[in-house]
Amino acid sequence: MALVEMAPVTLRKAELHASVGDPVLDTMNFLNEITHRYPQAVSFAPGRPYDGFFDVEEIFRHIRRYLDHLVEGGATPGEIRDALFQYGPTAGQIRELVADSLRKDENIDVRPEAVVVTVGCQEAMFLALRALFAGPQDALLVSSPCYVGITGAARLLGIEPTAVAEGQGGFRCADLEVALAAEKARGRRPRAFYVVPDHSNPSGSTMPLDERHALLDLAARADFLILEDSPYRLVSPGRQLPTLKSLDTDRRVVHLGSYSKTLFPGARVGFAVADQLVVDEDGRQGLLADELTKIKSMVTVNTSPLSQAAVAGMLLAADGRTSELNTETSAYYGEAMRAILKRLDECFPEPGRSALGVRWNEPAGGFFLTVDVPFPADNAALVRSAEEHGVIWTPMSYFYPQGGGEHSLRLSVSYLTQADIAEGTARLARFIASEAARTR
Ligand code: PMP
Repeated sequence: MALVEMAPVTLRKAELHASVGDPVLDTMNFLNEITHRYPQAVSFAPGRPYDGFFDVEEIFRHIRRYLDHLVEGGATPGEIRDALFQYGPTAGQIRELVADSLRKDENIDVRPEAVVVTVGCQEAMFLALRALFAGPQDALLVSSPCYVGITGAARLLGIEPTAVAEGQGGFRCADLEVALAAEKARGRRPRAFYVVPDHSNPSGSTMPLDERHALLDLAARADFLILEDSPYRLVSPGRQLPTLKSLDTDRRVVHLGSYSKTLFPGARVGFAVADQLVVDEDGRQGLLADELTKIKSMVTVNTSPLSQAAVAGMLLAADGRTSELNTETSAYYGEAMRAILKRLDECFPEPGRSALGVRWNEPAGGFFLTVDVPFPADNAALVRSAEEHGVIWTPMSYFYPQGGGEHSLRLSVSYLTQADIAEGTARLARFIASEAARTR
């Protein structure tokens, strides 16, 4: 019988889930592509930790330390073997250590049962959204500009976030109140508000203490949950303001945690603190963490035991205090931030700066700052910047779920050396001057 040549199947993009056509899901690819295309450029784009602090041999010592800890706790050789080689408990095998660390570092006092260890904070966001958003009536509000990870996760789940614009000084509760009223007027139920309260990605802003209290008050009055995501606080210099979760007396806050900045991103370990009570129709009570665990069992089954072992070993090395592990890194990032602010000042002296229409914020920590420029900071401008001036940044418009940020760019200083920062800022100044002249 003659073989019939079959055409390969061709799928129509329009018939795939709408999220795969969402520009948000392409933004990181575009940045990676630009970075590869212009390897000589100084890149202020990626929010990566500085790799000068990573030491390959340390990984083995961390895993060994965790195994020794299990032995001290009475684990048998079989249990230790399983702890590395086998499928693990879905909610995580290092929940006690995470809860202990949260108590010591962050004054967050929860039982280990309220913690779910996840594949990065990204999975924690996904699980929390899946569990909390039951239907189209449930509204997700986000402080905007906001981290693309939450916008992307929401869109994968068919949830369209409602942006609450940050003002010049960052988030204001009064603006959230207006947005809540608008959602209610549309017949929707504000379910959760997502925010990065400390040294936000992307804007670099930090929520003042009085706004934190006001936000918790508002959440209680208007009956919504707060999704708190704060990966940069413990890699920032100086004392940090209290987390929303540590101020939360009625379990309004689901805290989404990440070890990517404090320990290392390759571990892909994060966690959710979800101590909210959930009651079923028969009056049986459990925790939101239990529901997140059920969802996780169908998404990633469990977080890699090998990764959890490395993370646990690092936590044990500092008796749970990730803040102590990060004294050097936070000083490094603090210096990097100070350096870029100083360089920007030198490159754009007043009164020329104001006349040109350039300004920036001055974060006290974190990885990012925002620069406003007098021209559209779009992909085309980014390509000119990389090609003609050897400097890469991120268009701020990527971070606005409902439009905005067209004249701003995000600079990340975390993984650059001081020399790169100096050179990169000089190149950026030349790019800004040439772009301003071009569009004048
Ligand atoms: N939240 C924010 C605000 C972030 O900036 C990042 C990392 N870029 C994450 C979450 C992701 O964390 P993880 O690597 O733990 O998934």
